[in-house]
Amino acid sequence: MVKPLIAGNWKMHMTVRESVDFARQLRSEFPEPVDRNIVIAPPFTALYPVAEVLRGSGIYLSAQNLHWDEEGAYTGEISAEMLVDAGCEYVIIGHSERRTFFNERDSEINRKIKTALKFNLRPIFCVGETLAERESEQTFAIIKRQIEEGLINLSSDGIEQIVVAYEPVWAIGTGKTATPGQAEEVHRFIRNTMAEINRKDTSSKTVILYGGSVNHNNIGDLMNQPDIDGVLVGGASLNVETFIKIVRF
Ligand code: PEP
Repeated sequence: MVKPLIAGNWKMHMTVRESVDFARQLRSEFPEPVDRNIVIAPPFTALYPVAEVLRGSGIYLSAQNLHWDEEGAYTGEISAEMLVDAGCEYVIIGHSERRTFFNERDSEINRKIKTALKFNLRPIFCVGETLAERESEQTFAIIKRQIEEGLINLSSDGIEQIVVAYEPVWAIGTGKTATPGQAEEVHRFIRNTMAEINRKDTSSKTVILYGGSVNHNNIGDLMNQPDIDGVLVGGASLNVETFIKIVRF
């Protein structure tokens, strides 16, 4: 069993002041590394000030997106180097909100993952099916395609750096959580798929998170599943007291 990873995705919420206050409270609760990895993903504007608060604490900083190119004329975009410079160690890639609202395709996600790895940022690579896809029994085919195309032409070392987040689109921000059994079934499938695409079987080390309406009441049952190594939390990560309860599940 790998060390549990609890990640909070703040999306387009929180000012710099709110982010810094949150980070200070979180740090005072966890001043030193604990038996789980804690990651927060504030908005871009708050990354650097939050990194200053977290320095030396063992709490990791993640960005929510990056551009696939290293630099260039891309107004409004942000590069891997800028994220590293701001103090990030992780970056969320392929979140369903980016796939849906910004039309991100598997091929772009693949380029972003490669760029992140080149700059030593650990990708939190999101995959998941929509409700219609689940109801038409396409869940496994969709997840397989997203993994195979998202991770195409990656080295074995690169694949080992990937954190996969299974986020059924129908469970994100809806209050509907996959049952522990539903989540476990897909997590096991993801683990097997990761073993297939990697030439050596290091799939037992792959960190696979579940995301979709996780809160402090349902995390315990999810984390009891053998293939759920952690969670990616949206809404419930915005309140520091709630997030602390989730980390302490
Ligand atoms: C997410 O955005 O990654 C997420 C899982 O959101 P929520 O926890 O609000 O469903």
